[in-house]
Amino acid sequence: MYFNQPELNQFIILYPPALVNILRSFITDEMFWPEDEIRRNILRRMTDTGKIYKKDLLTLWQQEKFRNHLPVMNNKEFVIQVFVHLDVLVLPKRYSDKSDSHVDYYLVPCTVKNKVPMSFLDEQSFASRTLSLVYRLQKSSIPSALSFKLIGAVSSIWPIMELNSRPLLYHSSAVLCVDGNTEFRIIVEDTKVIVYLTHKTSKAAISPDIAASIQECLTSTLEAVLKFYLSSIGKNHRKANVSNLLQIEVGEVCGRSPCVVPIAKAKLHSEWVCDSGTTHSSRYRLLWLFNKVRNIN
Ligand SMILES: [Zn+2]
Repeated sequence: MYFNQPELNQFIILYPPALVNILRSFITDEMFWPEDEIRRNILRRMTDTGKIYKKDLLTLWQQEKFRNHLPVMNNKEFVIQVFVHLDVLVLPKRYSDKSDSHVDYYLVPCTVKNKVPMSFLDEQSFASRTLSLVYRLQKSSIPSALSFKLIGAVSSIWPIMELNSRPLLYHSSAVLCVDGNTEFRIIVEDTKVIVYLTHKTSKAAISPDIAASIQECLTSTLEAVLKFYLSSIGKNHRKANVSNLLQIEVGEVCGRSPCVVPIAKAKLHSEWVCDSGTTHSSRYRLLWLFNKVRNIN
């Protein structure tokens, strides 16, 4: 096994199943946790917060059954880089204005058990401060491996919001920070990915460039993740257009749900009455798209 990537191309893995064994050191069910309290606490903290300190990972690897696979520090650093490459471990994006840019921990989206609390939908004026974006996967549902990889990829692009130094990272969802006034939530469900972009005061204050660049960045990230997934299950989509597998819908929030229309429809009409009887102008939903399209209306 060989990764032709900078930082990974110095090593060849002679025995790939070793990687799976090493993964089991931290991606494992509670019934397989080690007996000693120190390591149990490491795993407990990780499944609770979604983050693991590098020193704790190294502590897990000191166990007899992993020591053989990782005899020297060079091997450990390499394996960490492989896991980062595969989005199992995510190097968190930091707020740029923070001086401590050195990060000594990784996010591990696939081990987080907690579901995202949906109480934000009931927050005062949430609907009037929020735009929504929905990716609907044609045909198949989203495998959990894909959802972890997507959440991992997204959290290495935008910083994860923190509350009491706990990252707001949940099972198949996360809250991310755009700037001091704007945040967005990404929630992966069965066949769709829901995104809520929320401003502190009003959706009218959301910068069009921010909304459109988030949409473009998420779309290309999701396409890259889909491509990776399809190729890893043996389907060659190098020629096929992955974007055909996705429908992108843009809109606002009505009641407690996204109120969205496909992009093509959003561009056609300047007003539209939704199922709940509300008239929406196209102004807000077109914020998700760059100017060339917005000017149509
Ligand atoms: Zn509506």
